[in-house]
Amino acid sequence: MSTVIDTHIHPALFAPICEDGDRFRFRCNEMNYHLMSPIDLDLLKKQLALADIRCVFLLGEDCSFEKGQAAISNDEIAHLTELEPEMFIGFASVDPRSPDAEEKLRFAFTEQGLAGMALNTAKCRLFPYDERVFRLCEICGEYAKPVIFHSGICLERDAFSRYSRPADFEEVIAAFSGINFCLTHTGWPWVQETAALLIKYPNAFANTALMSFDGPLQLYHKVYKEDMGEFWVEHNLADKLMFGSDSPRIRPVRAKRGLDGLNLRADVMEKICCRNALRFLGKEVLL
Ligand SMILES: [Zn+2]
Repeated sequence: MSTVIDTHIHPALFAPICEDGDRFRFRCNEMNYHLMSPIDLDLLKKQLALADIRCVFLLGEDCSFEKGQAAISNDEIAHLTELEPEMFIGFASVDPRSPDAEEKLRFAFTEQGLAGMALNTAKCRLFPYDERVFRLCEICGEYAKPVIFHSGICLERDAFSRYSRPADFEEVIAAFSGINFCLTHTGWPWVQETAALLIKYPNAFANTALMSFDGPLQLYHKVYKEDMGEFWVEHNLADKLMFGSDSPRIRPVRAKRGLDGLNLRADVMEKICCRNALRFLGKEVLL
């Protein structure tokens, strides 16, 4: 297997952004990460290497309208991407409810070098078809940046899945046909809804970052071989799925084993592990 790209990592525990104890506790509380501690980048790289992961998408998380601070800010994402520019691809997040959201997003693209936008509508309690979400997507369109939406149920505190049902993203995906969208977690547990969007819209992608039921080996099988038809991934979704772990909730090497356990054809694995993520970013090759 050549290079693997992990399209779904929350760098909540990455040591270079965990120096402030109060901030670290706030973040873990917000994101429901308990009994976890910061991890050095060297150790992290070794963990990623176990699954041949050479490049990862780092997702910012900003639902700061009420709380006053983002769980993972764009400054923190930008700092990490500066430390490891070949490995980290940073996604900015802004709270669509904040008056300065548009300005912050433009700044993330023009000054902080971030590669796209990550939004969690479940946590911001906004429907995906809200006009404030549309306005931010318009800006992504201006700068030709892809968008990652949390979709399906969200395990974080104060987040509700009525705001992130996969089918409710249809309007925004249809309205911005020039932007690539990723529905994370394959919209679990509404994976058939997600599959339907993937075959209908050329600009719709999904990632495999699944939640914690059983272990990844069992859950990947359940989702991609039982909840979906046995051959849907190979026959219909080979160009639309991207590997993602949802680390730190699931360790990348375990998630990768779940994907390996599907025993997909080598050319399909190559697409899911790497090629689709490059296409999603609008790139031919990594750096
Ligand atoms: Zn996640």
